[in-house]
Amino acid sequence: MTGRFILLGPPGAGKGTQAELIREKFHIPQISTGDILRKAVREQTPVGQEAQKYMEAGQLVPDEVIVKIVQERLQKPDCQHGYILDGFPRTVVQADALGRVLKEMQVALDGVISIEVEENELVRRLSGRRTCAQCGETYHLIFHPPQREGICDRCGGRLIQREDDREETIKKRLEVYAQQTAPLKDYYQAQGILREIKGMGSREEVFERICRVMKGSV
Ligand code: AMP
Repeated sequence: MTGRFILLGPPGAGKGTQAELIREKFHIPQISTGDILRKAVREQTPVGQEAQKYMEAGQLVPDEVIVKIVQERLQKPDCQHGYILDGFPRTVVQADALGRVLKEMQVALDGVISIEVEENELVRRLSGRRTCAQCGETYHLIFHPPQREGICDRCGGRLIQREDDREETIKKRLEVYAQQTAPLKDYYQAQGILREIKGMGSREEVFERICRVMKGSV
């Protein structure tokens, strides 16, 4: 299946996990601005150095930096038949910019899928999250533990807690979401392309709901 989709939802809603399942099933690239930025930070590129201080504080990286990254990414050949945007847009300014880029490319979004999860559940999920320092694979101490404690199943790398998954930063990120990103639901509702789904339950159950709305949108 082809299509251009946005996965919207607060930190911890499962956007990354679901975007990966979508990528595997539908063979469309997953474009995660968080992953792109973390890689840039690891490699200490100029963008990475600029982004690092915002990320560690749980704040958003400036819109112009992000828009440029996404704009370049969308020009790549693998985006021709669709993609899933995970973690972008996060502000109305970014959404407007995306709209302009898509218009220039003469394409349109097929749907915006908003994953709904209650706040106390988000904190529980984020504080148990562990990430591979080497390949970026994510685990959860309770819901999705690795086979060997502290070691990545996929590449054998060391599992760490992301700097921004610490309790104080989590609170900040949730605040930022409520203030700057949640308004995008109304924004896309007004365009008639918002699809809300429940983010509770197993990853397979949530994926099933997503597949249903994706199939109904294209
Ligand atoms: P994520 O993995 O999507 O939760 O992103 C981790 C961090 O990267 C966020 O807390 C922001 O600091 C930054 N980030 C990722 N995507 C964006 C975006 N679209 N706009 C601004 N900052 C972003």
